[in-house]
Amino acid sequence: MSDIFKKIVSRTQDYAQDIYDFACELIQVESCSGNERGVATLVEAKMKQLGFHDVIVDNMGNVRGSVGTGQTLIAADGHMDTVGAGNLEQWARPPFSGEQDDNHLYGRGASDMKAAIASMIYAGKVVQDLQLTDQFTYMACATVQEEPCEGLAWEYLIEKEGVSPDFVIIAEPSDDLISLAQKGRMELKVSVTGKSAHASAPQMGNNAIYSMAKIVTELEALNDNLEIEDKDLGKGSLVVSEMLSSAPSRSSVADYCEIFIDRRLTWGESPQYALEQVKHLPSVIAAQAQVELPTFEEPSYTGLVPHKECTFPAWKIEKDHVVTRSTVEAYEQLFDQSPTLTTWPFSTNGVAIMGKHNIPVIGYGPGVIAACHVPDEYVIKKQVLRATMMYAAMCITYSNTCNQESVSHA
Ligand SMILES: [Zn+2]
Repeated sequence: MSDIFKKIVSRTQDYAQDIYDFACELIQVESCSGNERGVATLVEAKMKQLGFHDVIVDNMGNVRGSVGTGQTLIAADGHMDTVGAGNLEQWARPPFSGEQDDNHLYGRGASDMKAAIASMIYAGKVVQDLQLTDQFTYMACATVQEEPCEGLAWEYLIEKEGVSPDFVIIAEPSDDLISLAQKGRMELKVSVTGKSAHASAPQMGNNAIYSMAKIVTELEALNDNLEIEDKDLGKGSLVVSEMLSSAPSRSSVADYCEIFIDRRLTWGESPQYALEQVKHLPSVIAAQAQVELPTFEEPSYTGLVPHKECTFPAWKIEKDHVVTRSTVEAYEQLFDQSPTLTTWPFSTNGVAIMGKHNIPVIGYGPGVIAACHVPDEYVIKKQVLRATMMYAAMCITYSNTCNQESVSHA
């Protein structure tokens, strides 16, 4: 291990207890989506205390702060919101106790993703202490409302706040693996209007449920026949998840029917492509069905009301991309072993950053995927430290690789 990586390791170890304690402090403040203010206040104060510059809480309620003065901007993202605690009787420890033992931190958000936020912020402190910051600027971003609407916060940061990183580290739980891709998803609403009639004379009406039944049958077949397949992410999928209908009474022909579709998008399937696929089904055309994209309109804790189409495109970074190579090198330098590369089974803010805006994304974060969204959520302390080291080291390896390659191309 070369000198600089040794220093990152030892400096991170010096801060180990501070990192764990800050993560537990974050866990102790309940922050379901739309209720992140308490955590945002702690994050803002910690960034200022540790000497971050340009600490900003934007109008949506996202908190970001930077260290360093270089042109290259490397961002790390962690969402401040968590899912609810669920049934409290299923928890061995109270969900917001923020307890720790020798090897773990416990509570809702431990893995998803309060320990990650602590790792991201302390990585900034480490690079600053070691005076590594003239080559790059490192920005920690703690974001809102990821759980119900991933990508929402980063659409805001990129489109409204003008944040434009060279790449973004998504610090979602990765079990110490490096994630290079995720499937996208979208929601679709299909509605059919029919004509009611007395149930004793059905030939006088036009039954919306019968029209929808043909659509549902074709959708089931479409799922079985999706053509695009990615070698890492496989095929997309499609599920009819909800159906509603109405009629003037139970003795009438139904005059309205709607369904919701959950569509998982593989690499190569855009939301527009998936929308057109449904619009062009023969049964959809025959019934003159409406095909719409639902929107997300839940206000953030600051009161900002979004109007976001529920489309979340897939993202994927190649193995030979400079971001992937420098992330692998950081791992090898720090831990003296090769990392395992993987893809994420869940969705992240990468859908906006890379899926929509083409800014490279890579995934590495402390946390056990199986411990997320379940009772007795925990995170492994060793992974929390490794993530802190990785975020600091990735700034170095990325800057060095870019410098070497621009010299060799000059
Ligand atoms: Zn998450």
